[in-house]
Amino acid sequence: MTALEEIIKARIARLGPMSLAEYMTTCLLHPEYGYYTTRDPLGAAGDFTTAPEISQMFGEMLGLWLAQCWQDQGCPSHFVLAEPGPGRGTLMADILRVARNIPGFLEAAEIWLIEASPTLTKAQRTALRGHDIHHAAQITDLPQGPLFLVANEFFDALPVRQFIRTEQGWRERMVGIEQGRLAFGLSPETPLDTLDAAYAGTSIGEMVEICIPAQEVAGEIARRIRDNGGAALIIDYGSYGTAGDSFQAVREHRKVGALETPGKADLTAHVDFAALARAAGDLRVNGPLPQGVFLERLGITARAQTLARGLSGPALESHIAAHRRLTHPDEMGSLFKALAFTPTKAPIPAGFDQDDA
Ligand code: SAH
Repeated sequence: MTALEEIIKARIARLGPMSLAEYMTTCLLHPEYGYYTTRDPLGAAGDFTTAPEISQMFGEMLGLWLAQCWQDQGCPSHFVLAEPGPGRGTLMADILRVARNIPGFLEAAEIWLIEASPTLTKAQRTALRGHDIHHAAQITDLPQGPLFLVANEFFDALPVRQFIRTEQGWRERMVGIEQGRLAFGLSPETPLDTLDAAYAGTSIGEMVEICIPAQEVAGEIARRIRDNGGAALIIDYGSYGTAGDSFQAVREHRKVGALETPGKADLTAHVDFAALARAAGDLRVNGPLPQGVFLERLGITARAQTLARGLSGPALESHIAAHRRLTHPDEMGSLFKALAFTPTKAPIPAGFDQDDA
């Protein structure tokens, strides 16, 4: 039994079953034994690999996208360049490298990383050595000002709750103890008017998954962009609307039982892009677009061809595989989606200006 499993069981024994959100937060962010608190989970030797770790092209495309938005809004002379959940700092490093070619951009940028993990904070400091960077624990800690933000695979790490519709109301999926082991169960039936209204189309027995922190973070980002200008690009896997049950655990690149090894597996859920779009209020919401379509429209193929010229043998093969992995619908191209918030008065941002995807 892991140390964290003992802590979770003791808490359940004292206070009764816990929501999935409490379980997820405890497993991921427990100060001593949490998954993100204790390790760098990324890459081949870790548990999962993300787009910026697959190829520098991903960050280059996003960096140019951000710079274009900044130019579209008259090149504000001081702005907050922010990334929540920056992992190893690879995406921000690629963005900053490509942004060197945009006159005035780096001089105007105040770089802020929002990170909960001490281990990854350290990795980010190393990856971004030479740049003046600031760390914050939450989005609300960012200074005011125009906000240009990217988030890749951040929202999927935020805690979800699941509810099943019944005749009389809703039952929440909980984590309890059964025969000495952690087990899923259901709370007693409760009438919940807000869920009735938000998920009017669901039938008895159907499950909805909601992520309150995702809505709050998206709402805060949107408010700042509405008040001060800026743009936000959110990339993650998910769908438009609730995914039902998408809660999953991944360890060493394989799916494992979510209750098996608390604190040792990554726990995520699909992002509901409709919920993020609702949180944007009256801002312009662009997309979601499939990641593959978005990257192609930003010119990833031309960039891939340029980079390919300097490569041969296994390096060329892995470069071609990386391009495919990021864009092909059978890989990350269609499950992953890009959603952007921009001010209503700003031009439609690059990639989203053809609405046929
Ligand atoms: N964006 C990176 C890493 C994705 S992994 C990439 O694409 O490679 C998820 C990241 O979000 C990690 O950096 C993790 O520590 C961070 N994170 C997870 N939950 C968080 C929270 N509640 N607050 C701040 N950061 C969080």
